Amino acid sequence: MKKRKILIPMPKSRFVKVKCPSCGNEQIIFDHATFPARCLVCGTVLVEPTGGKAKILGDIVKILG
Ligand SMILES: [Zn+2]
Repeated sequence: MKKRKILIPMPKSRFVKVKCPSCGNEQIIFDHATFPARCLVCGTVLVEPTGGKAKILGDIVKILG
C-alpha cells in the first residue's frame, strides 16, 4: 500500500486569536497572512508568511473561522 498524504478539507483561510508569547496580548490575525504580523503591544512577530498557510508563532487562543 502506498503512503499518501491525506489532505483534510479545510476552509481556505480563517482568522485566529493569538496570544503573544512575550507580553500576553491577544489579537486577531489572519492565518494566511502574506506579510509578518506583529504584536501591537511589544512588536513580537506572531505570524510568519510561508507562501501558503502562515506559521503562527504565538499561542492560538481561539479559532474564529
Ligand atoms: Zn506582545
